[in-house]
Amino acid sequence: MPTTRLSRSSMVRVGLLLALLIGTLGSHWKDILPASEPDPDEIHVLQQGGKVGKLALEVKEAGSNLHMPARLYFTYDDGREELPTVGRFQHFLVTASGRDLKTLPVGEYQVYVSRGTEYSLDRQKVKIEEGKTAYLNSTLERVVDTTGFISADFHLHLQYAMRDGAMTSAAEGIDLLTATDHNILKDYSPHIRALKLERFITSTVGSEIDTAFGHFNSFPLEIDRWGRREFRHGIRTPGEFLRIVRQEPGEQIVQVNHPRRWTSSPISGYFDERLNAETGAFDYPYFETGFDSFEIFNAITDQSETIIGRTKLVDQKLQDWYRLLNRGALMAGVANTDAHRYPEDSLGYPRNYVASETDNPWEIDPRKVVQAVKRRAVTGSLGPFLHFTGNGSPVGSVITDPDRSVSLRIQLQSAPWVPVETLEVIRNGEVIKTYSVPPPEEKEKPWKFDTELVVECRQDSWVLVIASSQTPWEKPFENYRSFSFTNPVFVDVDGNGYFDPPNGGYSLQETEN
Ligand SMILES: [Zn+2]
Ligand SMILES: [Zn+2]
Repeated sequence: MPTTRLSRSSMVRVGLLLALLIGTLGSHWKDILPASEPDPDEIHVLQQGGKVGKLALEVKEAGSNLHMPARLYFTYDDGREELPTVGRFQHFLVTASGRDLKTLPVGEYQVYVSRGTEYSLDRQKVKIEEGKTAYLNSTLERVVDTTGFISADFHLHLQYAMRDGAMTSAAEGIDLLTATDHNILKDYSPHIRALKLERFITSTVGSEIDTAFGHFNSFPLEIDRWGRREFRHGIRTPGEFLRIVRQEPGEQIVQVNHPRRWTSSPISGYFDERLNAETGAFDYPYFETGFDSFEIFNAITDQSETIIGRTKLVDQKLQDWYRLLNRGALMAGVANTDAHRYPEDSLGYPRNYVASETDNPWEIDPRKVVQAVKRRAVTGSLGPFLHFTGNGSPVGSVITDPDRSVSLRIQLQSAPWVPVETLEVIRNGEVIKTYSVPPPEEKEKPWKFDTELVVECRQDSWVLVIASSQTPWEKPFENYRSFSFTNPVFVDVDGNGYFDPPNGGYSLQETEN
């Protein structure tokens, strides 16, 4: 399309001309004339007044040398605490194409260039002078190999800035964006196409549905019927809700969102007053465990005043999960952002890694993602990427092992700027092994840990792995603390072909290979 080759200044000139025409010809012309496209970042910078210059920026992937979406965080080079305003996201710029010409206030800056936790973090100095163009060429290295998994955010509200939502998600390295605005269906795919981002990101349509007993996400959805509050809140029990959602054509995920809040809420935290936090007892006669997944981590509800990471509330949800698994309520654990705004909210962190036949975003079939989450072939990641198998079978599998010694393989990778401290192996709710993860030998190298562990199981067992850290990530991500977890591998040792949960309840049939 030739329009993208037009320089920004000529587009602004065309826009001004059109605006003049509209003014002259009357407002009804607005409907038939094409919208002008001045750069919204430039408008923001010009509104501040002050001297400006240009920044020609390029962000490429090392090796392939392809341009890619990225985000650029700006600080003043002299170290003052105040942050510069460089565009509509304040001190951030986001590039969809990896190649942009931006207008910036005159000054000297440190620029941190990133594309999520699978890539290196680059830092460069730029000096913007009045009326001149400075150049920034950044190369990011792919340092975490996620072959066989795609990254997905299953909880995202960007309906008031959908174009920005598609662009910023791609810039944070999300492969699959799930639209889950409140009680409404929104589709990001036209924006992804308009931005030419199909190579980097794909999307699916869903919704966050609030009820009288909690907030639940479902996707993919086709029927836009959740808008009426009386309808949603007239649904009497979680079971009735599940029956209604599952009337949709095809299969869909029904996910329990932020099941516990810092301040207990029966309306938005499904577990809060229904699942006993001390004992795991169901304190509610209609407690339903037939959901596909629930949020072990939600960046909005789980952040404390100072950090986004493994807080007390997250540990409570882990305990909830262990107790549910032990009694055969086998919902998958997931990790989502719940981002409403950018850059204020934590878009891109955490994310899920879902087992996938393809690593190419444009080939992702949301139906296969749904099936993978239903069989718990997913890990949650705030930073480190975990790959975990039992006797060679991936997370979510049910394996039969009559000799009762299960061979676990745990592989961890983390970008150089995302530190990890410990790795725990949990069986039936108990920590059976803790490793301290050694730092990389060179500071620019990624964190890597690869180990095998043989575990003796006297009864049917589930085993999962958690990686976490209290050390802050590098600037400009210093609020984050690593916290990643896998879903379990289920072990059938009595050879009946089922994982029989330790405390009774629903058994899970052996996975077919
Ligand atoms: Zn919610
Ligand atoms: Zn939400």
